Amino acid sequence: MNQIKFLEPTTFSEASTLLAERGDDAKVIAGGVSVTLMLQQKLISPSILVSLGEIVNGDFIRLESDGLHIGALAKLHDLERSQIVREFCPALAHTFSVVGNVRVRNQATLGGNLSAADYAADPPSMLMALDARVQVQGAEKKREIPLDEFFLGFYTTALESTEILTEVIIPKPARAAYFKYTSISAEGRPCVAVGVAADFDSDLCKDLRIAVGAAVETPQRIESAEAMARGQTLTDELVAAIANEYSLTLDPLTDVRGSAWYRREMIRVFVQRALEEVRNDR
Ligand SMILES: Cc1cc2nc3c(=O)[nH]c(=O)nc-3n(C[C@H](O)[C@H](O)[C@H](O)COP(=O)(O)OP(=O)(O)OC[C@H]3O[C@@H](n4cnc5c(N)ncnc54)[C@H](O)[C@@H]3O)c2cc1C
Repeated sequence: MNQIKFLEPTTFSEASTLLAERGDDAKVIAGGVSVTLMLQQKLISPSILVSLGEIVNGDFIRLESDGLHIGALAKLHDLERSQIVREFCPALAHTFSVVGNVRVRNQATLGGNLSAADYAADPPSMLMALDARVQVQGAEKKREIPLDEFFLGFYTTALESTEILTEVIIPKPARAAYFKYTSISAEGRPCVAVGVAADFDSDLCKDLRIAVGAAVETPQRIESAEAMARGQTLTDELVAAIANEYSLTLDPLTDVRGSAWYRREMIRVFVQRALEEVRNDR
């Protein structure tokens, strides 16, 4: 077997330059949870691994005037326990706490979780509902990508070949809820993942974002269904109607965690529960 060269840049910009120089031979590795499995199963065979493990200050968690900023190298276990994350959005801290098991969360980074673009994941739906965006570093420039435009398909993102995800920005706290439905085991990957974030003025819903993942190729929002809530009181009837809209409009997939028919039913149930939780959370 060929030896794999292990490179350890200390800045994101250096990492991106290495990707530009080494081309398709190079693969980024962060926590390594997915990459090591892909190597073991011979799904990838890079000759160079560009490790992000030595990048200085890549795992920050800080509140700024424009929202919560999380470095791509922050570990999911640190995020679930972070007081800053818990105070900013308890539902977001909860989302990190239900990923896989503690061994996975101790190793997995937020940047790795998003960049892997695995459809059966938790953070993407909650972060999309929270209107998060990511900052990425290319060999020549940085740019921001709204999470709404980041996931392009199964294991495919809007990242270009030399770009590295450096930071996740969540613009403002919101009343939010995350529901993960697992059909196989309690610590398994989601069959359906529902993230909801809403703004209220007294009883009236000013803004609503619902992202459903794991049941579909990429997390998806249905803006016409979200708009049904704008300026309205979230009555039981309205909540049921929005949940129904999600269930009927999305085109769920079939896999080992459930059939398309089953997922359609579970989307209805879990969108409804998540909306009720956000409505009742005062
Ligand atoms: C047993 C098990 C259970 C799991 N259960 C869940 C679950 O319930 N919910 C869930 O959401 N996930 C689950 N996962 C997936 C896990 O969360 C991801 O594998 C992990 O988050 C990946 O992060 P990492 O830092 O280890 O990334 P790595 O494995 O290092 O990288 C993953 C991918 O992203 C790329 N990459 C990494 N960092 C960056 C970056 N900053 N910029 C650009 N590209 C980058 C890599 O090249 C690779 O393609 C599970 C995994 C396992 C093994």
